[in-house]
Amino acid sequence: MKTQDYIDIEDQYGAHNYKPLDVVLSKGKGVWVWDIDGNKYMDCLSAYSAVNQGHCHPQIGKVMVEQASRLTLTSRAFRNDQLAHLYEELCKLTRSHKVLPMNSGAEAVETAIKSVRKWGYEHKGVEPDKAEIIVCENNFHGRTLTIIGFSTDENARKNFGPFVPGFKVIPFGDAKALEDAITPHTVAFMVEPIQGEAGVIIPPEGYLRQVREICTAHNVVLVLDEIQTGLGRTGKLLAEEHDGIEADLTLIGKALSGGYYPVSAVLSNQAVLGLLKPGQHGSTFGGNPLACAVARRALDVLVKEKMVENSAKMGAYFLSRLKLIQSTAIKEIRGRGLMIAIELHTDSPISARQVCEQLMLKGILCKETHTYTIRFAPPLVITKDEVDFCLDRIRSVFEK
Ligand SMILES: *Cc1c(COP(=O)(O)O)cnc(C)c1O
Repeated sequence: MKTQDYIDIEDQYGAHNYKPLDVVLSKGKGVWVWDIDGNKYMDCLSAYSAVNQGHCHPQIGKVMVEQASRLTLTSRAFRNDQLAHLYEELCKLTRSHKVLPMNSGAEAVETAIKSVRKWGYEHKGVEPDKAEIIVCENNFHGRTLTIIGFSTDENARKNFGPFVPGFKVIPFGDAKALEDAITPHTVAFMVEPIQGEAGVIIPPEGYLRQVREICTAHNVVLVLDEIQTGLGRTGKLLAEEHDGIEADLTLIGKALSGGYYPVSAVLSNQAVLGLLKPGQHGSTFGGNPLACAVARRALDVLVKEKMVENSAKMGAYFLSRLKLIQSTAIKEIRGRGLMIAIELHTDSPISARQVCEQLMLKGILCKETHTYTIRFAPPLVITKDEVDFCLDRIRSVFEK
């Protein structure tokens, strides 16, 4: 089959809920992927940061195959010999007290919402059914009905209502707005340390520290959605470390499996997850031995191969060189670690989509977010030569 054949079949039989670039991939290794014609590309999206460890990391692949031939799923009705290890390793690595494993990121978000509501009623003493959760404009926390109900992206919400009540939306990066929005019914504030899907929006210096103080002062649970920023993407294991704070609940997913399998988790202090009792929450696949074995190895290689340090180093180099590009089309270049974005002027002669299409022809795969921003988030195993390869191609698109 040719590229166009794959596209035609997908168009005919698939729901059109994505608009992919027209490249059909069949192989990956490290930062590189190959299409069905053998063309090689550098992956600068990393499946929205799910393959931080690089495509088909051999160590993760090995443990996946071994575990898959031994035991894959027990359900949580029985115990398995991987879950305890994952719990312990995750808690030690992230200095958490409790873990609740799920599959997709959205499920981790849903789990957090349920848990903080329960905490609000049973611990904080909020009146029944009055719990409020504060979130930010331009958030992205996933695609379930509850979650899109508090999205401010019209396209994500339109004609999917009615929505779940109990959410309040405030501007991102505005600590005063948080303080003003808190009421006796507020149980939690949920926020991304850097807004990824919104276009790598970095909040003002000191924001997260202020947020931490406000939440503590008002007995409000601080939930950080680190599903995209976590596990090395921003040059620290968790993005919260840049501000020297600790969330009460931290959500991770995506790279937790190195791209092999959907694995997510809620990391928590004792107080919040400690309230859940048998039967009150669960998932058939959550915490299964295959997922646990894969996640354990994905974390292990992240640490042992110093991918977090490499993200900080390569990210700083990438960003500093990117900023040297001369182009009237570019409004701003920003980033932290290997989470980097180029934002175009609204009257730019070239759209973000067109930049991505031109980069694809030069061997770089990346994806626009909204109309004006292009995100660069390669796997964290990228080398300096590979960053240079990428920079040359970006430069040639903008400087021509
Ligand atoms: C991707 C993402 C999610 C949702 O994860 P899924 O696995 O797609 O459900 C939630 N929050 C953030 C910040 C994300 O980037």
